[in-house]
Amino acid sequence: MPNSNTTRSIAILGATGSIGDSTTDIILANRDRFRVTTLVGHSNIEKLAERAIQLGAERAVVADEQQYQALRERLAGTPVDVAAGREAVIAAAAESADLVVCAMVGSPGIEPAMAAIQAGNTVALANKEALVCAGPVMMKLAADKGVRILPLDSEHSALFQVFEDKNHAQIEAITVTASGGPFRTWDKKRIRSATLTDALKHPNWTMGQKVTIDSATLANKGLEVIEAHHLFAIGPDAIKVVVHPQSIVHGMVHYTDGSVLAQLGMPDMRTPIAAALAWPNRYAAPQVDRLDLAMLGQLDFEPPDLDRFPMLGLAYDAMREGGAGPALFNAANEVAVKAFVDGRCAFHDIATIVAMTMDKALGDLSAASFTSLDDVLSADQHGQDLANAIVEDQLHRIGAPS
Ligand code: MG
Repeated sequence: MPNSNTTRSIAILGATGSIGDSTTDIILANRDRFRVTTLVGHSNIEKLAERAIQLGAERAVVADEQQYQALRERLAGTPVDVAAGREAVIAAAAESADLVVCAMVGSPGIEPAMAAIQAGNTVALANKEALVCAGPVMMKLAADKGVRILPLDSEHSALFQVFEDKNHAQIEAITVTASGGPFRTWDKKRIRSATLTDALKHPNWTMGQKVTIDSATLANKGLEVIEAHHLFAIGPDAIKVVVHPQSIVHGMVHYTDGSVLAQLGMPDMRTPIAAALAWPNRYAAPQVDRLDLAMLGQLDFEPPDLDRFPMLGLAYDAMREGGAGPALFNAANEVAVKAFVDGRCAFHDIATIVAMTMDKALGDLSAASFTSLDDVLSADQHGQDLANAIVEDQLHRIGAPS
């Protein structure tokens, strides 16, 4: 557990992405509270090197081994140590730190997050895929190691801030809000022909490409529902989604006395990041615009439409299935999103690919055990293989995106 008064040592996995940018802002606004140990970047060595110098990091690690020499050259003459490759990323996660920010994209983030927990490090988790895939395994390891997982996702940070652990039995439901994404007002026919450019136009949040497309399909909300299920030990039927286009209310906890506690704030990731980095205290996030409800005038809410956005319903199916279900859902989604980004399938094919993968895979895996990291990784691999085969098969049959 991080100490509250002294400087906290912090490692950032995914330091060159958008969560890395926001985390950097919070560290710079509270400079004397943090000592940056290791920064891990995927492949953007220019940004990684610059950031390592800016934050006075002790070490910079690039996941792409090919970039080792180039990173070394960029950091020559500085006190920053350099390493590269998958093993170095996992070692960085396991190195002792008060806080490890896990903000890598997708299932490659599972092992590093598990390594950080295994080492007893408090984890600030932005990589929702890790918890979605490894849910029961990761939560058990965290409990065994006495490790706190601090959510970085805005909705889960909101829930975490108003969730009264001591009154768990009196919690009737939790609500995750959804902006509805860029296609909230589009009809089904128009969504069918959505282009990559359309899908990347998120109304409220500036995020990486994968999560932005997931927001357009509502897969992101599905992943978040599963994440909340594990993080807060709340059953599938007690987790609700409400579409809230302004993204001001981020999450709500409903108690049996009729009270609903919500967390509000401007849609800016620096607020949930500051909440996690400071927990159980509060640090300043001076860069964030202040909420002015009178100026906003109105907040809107509507139910999600599972007919136009089938990915949300598929995520609930995966969550109810349990075990490997969510890992398969996630793996198929990662493959389908990549196929869409590469122009190999249409937007509406993403849900078709995921539904077909889950249909095929669940029969094979429902009896398999799901208790170890190996089980998690093999479910992920199996889901990816099946989804890739389905993408190839569809391409052969139709020749081009429908
Ligand atoms: Mg979110």
